[in-house]
Amino acid sequence: MQLPELTILDEKDKRLHLISKDAIFPLDETDKKRIQDMLDYLKISQIEDLREKYNLRAGMGLAYIQLGIAKRIFVIVDEVDDGKFENYIVINPKIISNSEELIYVGEGEGCLSINRETVGIVPRYARITVEAYDINGNPYTIRVREELAIAFQHEIDHLNGILFTDKIDPKNPFKNQANMREI
Ligand code: ZN
Repeated sequence: MQLPELTILDEKDKRLHLISKDAIFPLDETDKKRIQDMLDYLKISQIEDLREKYNLRAGMGLAYIQLGIAKRIFVIVDEVDDGKFENYIVINPKIISNSEELIYVGEGEGCLSINRETVGIVPRYARITVEAYDINGNPYTIRVREELAIAFQHEIDHLNGILFTDKIDPKNPFKNQANMREI
């Protein structure tokens, strides 16, 4: 698999704080190709040999705004089993319900736009239900949990101009940790 040429913005780029606008259907061929490129990039980043070959960091999700395009589109690649990947294409998403329970990534979240070590945790819902559109503009509803739910919330934040580091209080980076479950 060839590494697609994508330029991912670094956190210093102010465009990452833009609020993205709804995508309009039908998507054009450029968008469809870009979405496939993003999926390919993430998959490559999760395969150790290829990740090292191309000198990448592993990533699970990527939002359009990380490429500088303020449209409400993101993709996620989830390795469900060894070498088996599940792709998600999520367009104009809305969280329609969420669990009471909160979780966080114990080792801290990561982001392909944040190229430094970070300290702190981000509270996320353990389960969410999302309404969104697929690449052809068909609506669907999906319920996600645990790591995948965190990835969805992280990417939806990107669409609203929010980075995970914005949600960490630098004076108290592990605030309310006792009220959440670590994953
Ligand atoms: Zn991110």
